[in-house]
Amino acid sequence: MSSQGRGILTIISGFSGAGKGTVVKALLAKYPDRFRLSVSATTRQPRDGEEHGVHYFFRSRDEFEQMIRDDQLLEYAQYVTNYYGTPRQYVEEQLAAGHDVILEIEQQGAFQVKKAMPEAILIFLTPPTIEELERRLRGRHTETEEVIASRLAQAAIEAENINLYDYIVINDDVDGCVESLKHLIDGEHQKTCWNETKIQELQKDLQIYRKGE
Ligand code: 5GP
Repeated sequence: MSSQGRGILTIISGFSGAGKGTVVKALLAKYPDRFRLSVSATTRQPRDGEEHGVHYFFRSRDEFEQMIRDDQLLEYAQYVTNYYGTPRQYVEEQLAAGHDVILEIEQQGAFQVKKAMPEAILIFLTPPTIEELERRLRGRHTETEEVIASRLAQAAIEAENINLYDYIVINDDVDGCVESLKHLIDGEHQKTCWNETKIQELQKDLQIYRKGE
C-alpha cells in the first residue's frame, strides 16, 4: 500500500506463451495480502480446467458488446478472433482500497490503460528466446498448429512495440521473475509522486527550524 493509501496498477503483457499466467499466479501466491489480480472478460471458449470467474468471465459476443456500450470496461481489445477486456469496477475498488492491482493483458489494451492512467507501470514479459517461446506454445497441447502460427505472427507484431513499455523482464525462472516484479513495484512505491503526504509531513515538521529569510 502507498503511504497515501492508493494502490499501484501494474500491467503485465508479453507474447502468448511467455509464461505470464504462471508468473502472475506465483506472485499472488507468494504475496497474497499485497496484490489483487483483475479477472478479465473474454469471448473465447474456456480451455480445459478453466473456471468462469476464476480465470476469466466467459461471455458471448453479444454480452461483451453490451459491456462495451455500458462503459463497464477499463480497456478491451480484439486478440486473434476474440474479445478480451478488463472490468472497470473491480480495478477501481481495489486501487482505492490500497491494493496493488495486476492486469495480465495484451498490448493494445495495455497502451489504452497507460494512456488513461499514466501512473500505471507497464511491464513486458518475455521468454529468453523465440525457440523457447515456440516450445512453450507447443507444450500446452491445447492449441492447433494454426492457432500457434497465428500467435507467433501476433508476437512478431508485438515485438515492434516492446520499447513503449516501462520495463522488460525475462522469464527464464519463475521465482526470479516474481522477485523482479515485486522489486519493480516496491521501487515504484518509493517514487516521490506516491509519497506526497510523507513529504508534506516532513516539510511541515521542519518549518519551525527555518531561519528567517
Ligand atoms: P489467452 O487466450 O491465452 O488466455 O489470452 C490471450 C491474450 O489476451 C494474452 O496476451 C492475454 O494477456 C490477453 N488478455 C487477457 N485478458 C485480457 C484483457 O482483459 N484485456 C486485454 N486487452 N487482453 C487480455
